[in-house]
Amino acid sequence: MKNLILNSIFFLLSFACITASAQNADSIAIKRIFSDALTDTTSYHNLRNLTGHYGGRIAGSAQSLKAVKWAEQVLKNMGLDTVFLQECKVRHWERGEKESGKVISVKAGNHDLNICALGGSLPTAGNGLTAKVVEVKNYDELKKLGREKVSGKIVFINHPADPSLYNTFAAYGGVAGYRVRGAVQVAYYGAVAMIDRSSTTSHDDFPHTGIQHYADTVNKIPALSVSTNDADNLSRWLKTDPDLTVFLKASCNELPETASYNVIGEIRGTEHPEEIIAFGGHLDCWDICQGAHDDGAGVVQTIDVLRLFKSLNLKTKHTIRVIVYMDEEMEQRGAKAYSEAVKGRKHIAAIEADRGSFTPWGFSIDAADEQIKKVQSWKNLLLPYGLFYFEKGGSGVDIRDLKSQGVPLFGLVPDSQRYFDYHHSVNDSFDKINIRELQLGTGAIAALVYLIDRYGL
Ligand SMILES: [Zn+2]
Repeated sequence: MKNLILNSIFFLLSFACITASAQNADSIAIKRIFSDALTDTTSYHNLRNLTGHYGGRIAGSAQSLKAVKWAEQVLKNMGLDTVFLQECKVRHWERGEKESGKVISVKAGNHDLNICALGGSLPTAGNGLTAKVVEVKNYDELKKLGREKVSGKIVFINHPADPSLYNTFAAYGGVAGYRVRGAVQVAYYGAVAMIDRSSTTSHDDFPHTGIQHYADTVNKIPALSVSTNDADNLSRWLKTDPDLTVFLKASCNELPETASYNVIGEIRGTEHPEEIIAFGGHLDCWDICQGAHDDGAGVVQTIDVLRLFKSLNLKTKHTIRVIVYMDEEMEQRGAKAYSEAVKGRKHIAAIEADRGSFTPWGFSIDAADEQIKKVQSWKNLLLPYGLFYFEKGGSGVDIRDLKSQGVPLFGLVPDSQRYFDYHHSVNDSFDKINIRELQLGTGAIAALVYLIDRYGL
């Protein structure tokens, strides 16, 4: 009995020692990861090239295909074990000439509006349309107005993002639905066009675009976005002159679907090369911007994770793979192609970086409670790098299809306060990127990959 007790104590002590020394080895490895991430400037230069040469790379565009070639070449130059393209069919929507919008009123004056067409919008017919405008804050107000007051008019949906919410993604979530489905809702009552207040928390003169979807059951009408400042102005002018008219012209065009590609690169695992830890961002961005925060940053950060593991000669047991996704913004065809292609292939985890390049806080985790607890047990290793947030929540649009295959999903969560200043507008450009915040994102993802590879989930 005494021997048994002594043996048990010895076992527990040696276990504690191993755990302590493993912790120490991990903290040294993670320190090396962050030192490398914060010292190396490759991702920043990659982002400068991507945004500088291949801005406006919406799926289907010539720019997007050039960006695919660029990403493939970047991965090939890294000397990875495998680099390949994965085909997907994408829509090919074009904005055409810059849109024009004008308020015409004797009482309120004539004014140009800062507007742009929403993604997937139809053009205005002929040389543009002119109509009276009705303003609504939500669908209840629309319903109250009814067909009689809406038919033949432009409906202006003026629903501001809720500034009282701390998380700007929640504020965005509360308004983006009007952008996506507003044209269907207002066309049901006979509207001839929809103008939506830009889905953003900022107050600026720039229209923010984004996808909108039609339904086959109602008339398809042009759908445009107006800057938040001009939304406030238009609302004021409508109070001065409820009979004012607005002229709108959009020349969008939808071409036949075309081929595009995800770009994939990997380093094979030493023990379980058939099992994958995947991470990625999306290469496409809206045609009106450089796509620096959304999502050039996520692309270069996740590519940089592979560079970092090679540079530190950190061998992983499992294959580590970057997926540079195509077509997140319109139809997520790249995401669908990937999740179809990997059915039956085991993914230990999938991580997405698509919330802007701001100071990382941690990860939102879409996985079983036990798996989340395991990640939370690594907190002390990550706190020295500002990472404190490891909570249950959504991951990312491109990886969410992997959930049905039982893959634990992670979304990199940075500070969210400035993201929607830039999101889907001309302001999403390289000059808005802080190199340190970009590098910290690489460090955060690499550290998580390292721990998942070592301890599983
Ligand atoms: Zn994005």
